[in-house]
Amino acid sequence: MFMAKPLEVDYLVIGAGVAGLRAAVELARHGDVLVVTKESVAESNTHYAQGGIAVAMEGEDIALHLEDTIAAGDGLVNSAAAEALVNEGPVRVAELIEWGARFDEADGKLLRSREAAHSLARILHANGDATGAEIARSLAAFAQVHKRIRFAEWTPAVELVLTDGRVAGADLALASSSVGTEASSEEGKRYRVAARAVLVATGGAGQVYSDTTNPAVATGDGIALALEAGADLADMEFYQFHPTALWLKGAPRFLISEAVRGEGAWLRNDRGERFMERYHPLLELAPRDVVARAIAHEGIGEHGEPRAVYLDMRHVREIDLAKRFPGISSFLAEHKLDLGRDLIPVRPAAHYLMGGVRTDLAGRTTLKGLYAAGEAACTGVHGANRLASNSLLEGLVFGARAALAMLEDNLPQPRAEATPAAAKACAPQEAAHVEETIAALQSAMWAGAGLLRDERSLKAGLEVQRACEATLAELEQQGKWSRRLAEGRSLCRVSRAILLSALKRTESRGAHFRNDYPKHDDERFLKHSAVACDGVVRFEEW
Ligand SMILES: Cc1cc2nc3c(=O)[nH]c(=O)nc-3n(C[C@H](O)[C@H](O)[C@H](O)COP(=O)(O)OP(=O)(O)OC[C@H]3O[C@@H](n4cnc5c(N)ncnc54)[C@H](O)[C@@H]3O)c2cc1C
Repeated sequence: MFMAKPLEVDYLVIGAGVAGLRAAVELARHGDVLVVTKESVAESNTHYAQGGIAVAMEGEDIALHLEDTIAAGDGLVNSAAAEALVNEGPVRVAELIEWGARFDEADGKLLRSREAAHSLARILHANGDATGAEIARSLAAFAQVHKRIRFAEWTPAVELVLTDGRVAGADLALASSSVGTEASSEEGKRYRVAARAVLVATGGAGQVYSDTTNPAVATGDGIALALEAGADLADMEFYQFHPTALWLKGAPRFLISEAVRGEGAWLRNDRGERFMERYHPLLELAPRDVVARAIAHEGIGEHGEPRAVYLDMRHVREIDLAKRFPGISSFLAEHKLDLGRDLIPVRPAAHYLMGGVRTDLAGRTTLKGLYAAGEAACTGVHGANRLASNSLLEGLVFGARAALAMLEDNLPQPRAEATPAAAKACAPQEAAHVEETIAALQSAMWAGAGLLRDERSLKAGLEVQRACEATLAELEQQGKWSRRLAEGRSLCRVSRAILLSALKRTESRGAHFRNDYPKHDDERFLKHSAVACDGVVRFEEW
């Protein structure tokens, strides 16, 4: 794929996951679009999505999908957003199929599976457990042949440009892999792009935590850039921890999809007990936060020592597991595990951010000229907890909606200003220091603002966050730059918003569980949190 660096475009889309690509296709019907990505187009959370895409079947399932979405969100789902999701979902998925996505079928009919907290089997999947890769592949292929869409890979956005009170473009930097061996002096070189409207579609921020299912690109850059530019964030305390990431020494926290439990897997503790009956009537298909906390509880001994928790699929005989879950099966095989033969050790890991850049239902942020969609955005569609497999659908529906708003608002083209000066690359020692700082932040976030939190742990997290932010700021003040330094800054900003919002919500709701306030407090907190750059957290009904 070619590198493209125009200085003026109609629309700038930051990110090429499901949300950014869907928006780009819509925008290209009316103007020139530049899509920028931090690594290659193929690298995104979308690419790794396994289980599937939830989409209502015809008729009464639309109402049931809405009900399930609202129930999962624990009182905080913005019902208008959820209505848009379930009503527009079937059209957006049909469109995607028309553009080349292939979902699994049998006898000419789409196959649908069931996941936790869905009242029916409505999840479409592709190549067994590679749904996201198929969606990313088909959308990227469709967008890449479009004459009005250009891509710039390995070109992270590092700052939003503000002109006359509106977002008028962004500064992009050349990152390592865009720089050829001879031209290493290009590293950190910046390009300013002016655009009539900018879409943040940079995905989630799982890398805030030491244990995450998210790939390395998920550092919350777009959320941090929007915050720095003056946009509000919302619901940042709600981070979903996936209950079942592989827990094996030396192996990454590879996700073992919810669909595995949907197909009948049980959870067992190290005494062999199927323990979910002690926690929820829906057993292994209880909402994610309930299952994750149950695993965390069973996975700790009387003296705080870790104890194993397993997924057990050995009794499921009627399914060809290698065929239904080819990606999971082959990853497990690399670690000498077999779904049909072995107990699979699992633990929760940070997975999905319900919060993000606050938007209306059309993707408009609180800053003129700036729009957001997908995991980076918060419409309130997931409330305090996301229903499994609703986020790929969210990317399609709200990616399209944000594009339509960008077109409708029809802002004038701003002038491209001078390209900002290049920063100096970090020296190896400085780069190592950045890595250590990021690792310290990630551990502090896991310990302080993880699955279980309280005032003391959150305040301890905030202390580490402040120290990390100061360390990184010192390097930036010296005019230094590296992709990791920029990512560290994003992680600090996002962590701060999570910590401050979680501290202020002195109740437990959805994915936010406070040990010191284990109950709902509807009177004070049946509201969304909002936080701006000043760090003041407000609670608002919307
Ligand atoms: C392991 C895993 C399994 C999942 N399974 C499912 C599932 O089965 N069903 C479901 O619905 N959801 C699932 N999810 C969640 C879902 O994949 C994501 O929420 C969704 O794909 C997010 O899409 P997005 O377009 O918002 O962002 P992403 O797909 O994450 O794309 C973000 C894009 O932004 C780019 N980017 C980031 N920072 C910058 C920057 N500074 N400058 C330029 N570009 C930048 C990245 O390069 C990337 O192109 C899963 C997630 C993971 C991690």
